[in-house]
Amino acid sequence: MNFFKRLHVVYLLRRYAIKRDLWEKVFNQLGFLEKMSSVEKAHFRELTTLFLYEKNIYGAQEFELNEEMRVIIAAQACIPIMQLGIDLLGGWTDIIVYPAAFQVSREQYDEFGVVHQEDNILSGEAWQRGPVIFSWQDIQQDMQQWQKGHNVIVHEIAHKLDMRNGVANGMPPLHVGMQSAEWASALGDAYKKINQRLERHQPIAINPYAATSPAEFFAVISEYFFCAPQILEERCSDVYQLLCTYYQQDPLQRMSK
Ligand SMILES: [Zn+2]
Repeated sequence: MNFFKRLHVVYLLRRYAIKRDLWEKVFNQLGFLEKMSSVEKAHFRELTTLFLYEKNIYGAQEFELNEEMRVIIAAQACIPIMQLGIDLLGGWTDIIVYPAAFQVSREQYDEFGVVHQEDNILSGEAWQRGPVIFSWQDIQQDMQQWQKGHNVIVHEIAHKLDMRNGVANGMPPLHVGMQSAEWASALGDAYKKINQRLERHQPIAINPYAATSPAEFFAVISEYFFCAPQILEERCSDVYQLLCTYYQQDPLQRMSK
């Protein structure tokens, strides 16, 4: 970061700092981050402040968001980028929040070129170069039951990171030194395994939605990585290690402090 940009960031952090009481109130609701060190926590608060400055977070269907709700959303959106920096979430600004799961109707073309109307009920959605959309009810539910490893905000932010090199496909731009072949092999094998188990009607340890596509697989394992890392590490330690390298965090180590 150049000198002037750094000065601007310092100014923003002072001018728009999240009030301490509010920050503590929000942080205490994020059980999976409980053991974060004070240094990490201070950095996390700064990142959340910058996120709130850069993004517009507003309600749909006359749903009104208060400051605490905005901080809850911003903080969780910053979890995946805690060590990667806010620039990775550049190029889009809007976060739209519905009170509950929302319905989308879209036209889809099948392999014969025939158009079908598809209706889906969603808890979240990320658009390429566009907004991210959430259901507040799902956000609340995930926070209350974080041990289950579901987090709609982490899920959609993982899609946004994945989309940085085009359409979401389960492989975000990797860091220097990371091998795309290794990523493709480890995640590809794990994705294949869960699909095979589901085809044989065998239980799987993670949300079966992960079997929908490689992009959904990456988003779902990212949720487990941050909220219930032991589930992912026990079943797929190679995938867990690759996510540690990608996100530059080790949530399992953080939780076991
Ligand atoms: Zn998804």
